[in-house]
Amino acid sequence: MSLKPWFDTTETFIAGHWQAAPDRLALENPSTGAGIGEIARGTADQIDAAVAAARAALDGDWGRLTATERGRLLTALGRLVADRVDDLAALEALDVGKPLKQARADAVALARYLEFYGGAADKVMGETIPYLAGYTVYTLREPHGVTGHIIPWNYPMQIIGRSVGAALAMGNACVLKPAEEACLTALAFARLAEEAGLPPGALNVVPGLGEEAGAALAGHPGVDHISFTGSVHVGTLVQAAAARNVVPVTLELGGKSPQLVFADADLDAALPFLVNAGIQNAGQTCSAASRILVQRSRYEEVVERMAARYAALQVGPADADLDVGPLISARQKEIVEGFIARGGDLETAATGRIVDQAPSGGHYVAPVLFAGAAPDHVLAQQEVFGPVQVVIPFDDEHQAVQIANATDFGLVAAVWSADGARQMRLARRLRAGQVFVNNYGAGGGVELPFGGVGKSGHGREKGFEALYGFSVLKTVAAHHG
Ligand code: NAD
Repeated sequence: MSLKPWFDTTETFIAGHWQAAPDRLALENPSTGAGIGEIARGTADQIDAAVAAARAALDGDWGRLTATERGRLLTALGRLVADRVDDLAALEALDVGKPLKQARADAVALARYLEFYGGAADKVMGETIPYLAGYTVYTLREPHGVTGHIIPWNYPMQIIGRSVGAALAMGNACVLKPAEEACLTALAFARLAEEAGLPPGALNVVPGLGEEAGAALAGHPGVDHISFTGSVHVGTLVQAAAARNVVPVTLELGGKSPQLVFADADLDAALPFLVNAGIQNAGQTCSAASRILVQRSRYEEVVERMAARYAALQVGPADADLDVGPLISARQKEIVEGFIARGGDLETAATGRIVDQAPSGGHYVAPVLFAGAAPDHVLAQQEVFGPVQVVIPFDDEHQAVQIANATDFGLVAAVWSADGARQMRLARRLRAGQVFVNNYGAGGGVELPFGGVGKSGHGREKGFEALYGFSVLKTVAAHHG
């Protein structure tokens, strides 16, 4: 597949211009391990230029638009994305290694985010506040100004939609630093934004290394808000860098999300969610359900039925469109295999199968279902970020909640039970940013506020809540006697 006709992968997009970076990074296809070209290695100078371009956009054409006009532009951009869903999916499959149907779902989600935020842009209101006699007091929601967006490689399109989409809707001007492992759809997004007529500088995209371009953006004194999605380690560096400029930060970090299966659960309904939420995107999902907690009376049955599904899982190249693709890199494969080795003391209930035609240079790992894990086992505590799930038995509701809440993370949780009172109790007691009842939404739900507690991060993206996060509340107190 040629990338050339659409955009040049080696350029950055700054102030509405495509510009070469002084240096380049190699681009790899995770399905084969083969090089597929080069991308720009953005520098601190280019981040400077992008921040200046964003500031100029706020002071210029972009800043002068009404909320309705911004919304129309985003809606138009969403339509362009929808028209190019297949092209975007092909790019993402090539770059990230995800099976085509999963890449397509991400492209559809990006279009939906833009549709949602395009429609929401002029529906963010302030309020009037009763105050002293002779005063009229009201609030305004204003953009932060220049927002920095540092995103990972696992769901580039979805994360662009929820973070850049919401920030633009509120009238911010964005500098996006995609991950060095996968930035093609971020560049494609810039190309479509240009086509939609977004004023120059409203969106700037600078690919590059985290410690260079990423660090330069996180610590830039001209940035007014940082949205970071990625690892806990880098999230703390980004927060510390932003703190030096007293800049607010949204952190979307990792997870060890549990699904709780009670004896009264509808297992036929639950099973696809239990497995898919662990192996989707080869387990490289922040909200992967990597822990399955099962009430003891149905524990054997759940393990057996999940194992049957695992045994049928096929792993192969993105274009074969199987259940599971490769991991993003040789390094990620090494990390995941290290974790699997640490499960040597557990029962391996089942593994998936790497198909014969999978290229030998690809970063394939067969999914593994471990059973009988103690709640404090390393595989029940640390984020693997690969296709690995552990099944943990519990005796009663109290113990289930204790186990579910006993990690450093708190991103997503699910309760599978027919008991309505239990559903409500647990929705409150589970330590997570989202709780699903009798379903599970790993990554889904454009309309649903999303974010973590504990080491899963802070701040909310998605839904209307993101618009509040990407804005500042101003109070106006007018004395008129
Ligand atoms: P990472 O933290 O290594 O990289 C994320 C981004 O940060 C990349 O763009 C990278 O270039 C940049 N970066 C790296 N070092 C930097 C630095 N010193 N300063 C500024 N930026 C820097 O994460 P990853 O390995 O790419 O992604 C995996 C992690 O992301 C997992 O922990 C996963 O759970 C998390 N994640 C969370 C969510 C969520 O919404 N909560 C979504 C996706 C991924």
